[in-house]
Amino acid sequence: MRIDCLTLFPDMMKGVLNESIIGRAIAAGILDIRYTDIRDFAGNKHNRVDDTPYGGGMGMVMQAGPIYRAYQSILETAEKRPKVIYMSPQGRVFNQQIARELAAEEHLVFLCGHYEGVDERVIEEIVDEELSIGDYVLTGGEIPALAVIDSVSRMIPGVLPAEEAFSEESLYNGLLEYPQYSRPPEFLGREVPEVLLSGHHENIRKWRREQSVLRTALKRPDLLEQAELTIEETLFVKKLLAEQKGDKQ
Ligand code: SAM
Repeated sequence: MRIDCLTLFPDMMKGVLNESIIGRAIAAGILDIRYTDIRDFAGNKHNRVDDTPYGGGMGMVMQAGPIYRAYQSILETAEKRPKVIYMSPQGRVFNQQIARELAAEEHLVFLCGHYEGVDERVIEEIVDEELSIGDYVLTGGEIPALAVIDSVSRMIPGVLPAEEAFSEESLYNGLLEYPQYSRPPEFLGREVPEVLLSGHHENIRKWRREQSVLRTALKRPDLLEQAELTIEETLFVKKLLAEQKGDKQ
């Protein structure tokens, strides 16, 4: 997959993405992540890319021209038109389902805003979708874009050692993941659940599924509406939630 970042702070993004699992996927040629510094397309001798908002008000607005020219430079080396995402607190709130959808794309472009945001006309001209990472406001789109790129990249085949690495974990199948343990078998008097040491794969699978359902019911009951549960699991969850409600009253 190819990913382009349209940003004023390419080094900030490189620093994060060149590390660890994503860094290794880039080195292995599985991910092609490129950075375009919008300032290189300022088109004026002071390299200014922002100006005051028409109509007055606080702050500065990133101008349409530099962003548009930076985007055109990406198109020059693109095989076909990429999907362009503007990171914005006004966008659809990002989640695991959207990460899966984006992982199926061949080429993504992330536009990272700053200051008061971006001139609306360039959003209308080049952006396919606005994505938010949550209902709070950050100073720039780089951290939101990094979060999305990380989560999309790990679903590209070959980035993680095996598909189970993400297909079993929280939110992929609508449930939270079961608790995880590693050596030693006892820590400060707390023991690893016996079933995990048994080597009995079917019992381990059942225990993990139960724990997943239990955790989701306790921590994120809102997720259960979309999760695929067996009849027994649905009854179990109903009983558990009714008991909880009873405890609170
Ligand atoms: N004035 C804008 C508004 O009210 O919608 C907010 C601008 S914000 C200070 C600057 C930039 O940070 C935005 O252009 C966007 O790229 C990014 N940003 C801030 N919060 C974000 C969020 N929750 N999700 C995605 N991007 C965000």
